[in-house]
Amino acid sequence: MALVCFFITGGGVAILYFYLMKSIRTMQNQLNDMEEENLRVENIRRGFVANVTHELNTPLTSISGFIETLQEGAAEDPETRTKFLDIIAIETARLQRLIEDLLVLSEIENKRESTLETINVKYSVEKTVDLVLSIAEKRGIKLLVDIDETLSIEGNEDRFIQMMMNLIENAIKYSNDKGRVWIIGAREAGHVVLSVKDEGIGIDQLHQERLFERFYRVDKSRSRKVGGTGLGLSIVKHIAALFDAELKLESVPGKGSTFSLIF
Ligand code: ADP
Repeated sequence: MALVCFFITGGGVAILYFYLMKSIRTMQNQLNDMEEENLRVENIRRGFVANVTHELNTPLTSISGFIETLQEGAAEDPETRTKFLDIIAIETARLQRLIEDLLVLSEIENKRESTLETINVKYSVEKTVDLVLSIAEKRGIKLLVDIDETLSIEGNEDRFIQMMMNLIENAIKYSNDKGRVWIIGAREAGHVVLSVKDEGIGIDQLHQERLFERFYRVDKSRSRKVGGTGLGLSIVKHIAALFDAELKLESVPGKGSTFSLIF
């Protein structure tokens, strides 16, 4: 009897010990995972702050450099003065766009969501097209809208317009002069599918995965030349998530790109 008790107690203690050790190991693993996640988030935050600082600093340095040169006497020559003032105006506009995009990103990330409404897709896309038409016309680019007028989605219209504007502006920016951009909307398998298609420079597969990261650009100097902030697609990604929409990209270098939203 005593022997049986000894084995039962001994066995019980062993099982208890085994479960305790298992729980401790599980907790330890969870703590390690949390620590890793915190480190990852902290690294992203640090990278973002470094990027923002750099992006703000570049135009500021240029602006202050040109002002200084003007103050030192370059302003005396009317031609140089006009040229430098134009550069200052361009760099100031770049700073403004960057700050606007940062504000939009921060608003979306803090999920300060305003009114939800029923959006008529065709009507809102046409409003968006009106906003960017002059940029397209300057370069002889045609914007062709083909959207089923019965399509509607639920969400915030301002955000929808912001998302579509970023996609259409990119299609224009990365198109060749006299190119064509299509905005196509249809119902497919019960989903509203909206695509922005261009015949522009296209995007190599190599870059496609990172394209929606903040400040990621395929070609920094081209993005700079066309007035990009490097935040446009990141904003699109966040707004698409607010709409519960899937965002897809198909692109062939030299042939063009199609960004699709599946609501
Ligand atoms: P940017 O302000 O530089 O345009 P985005 O976040 O909007 O930043 O886009 C990121 C990068 O993706 C761009 O710098 C560009 O290299 C590439 N890209 C975006 N849209 C297109 C497009 N329609 N065709 C080709 N490249 C594109």
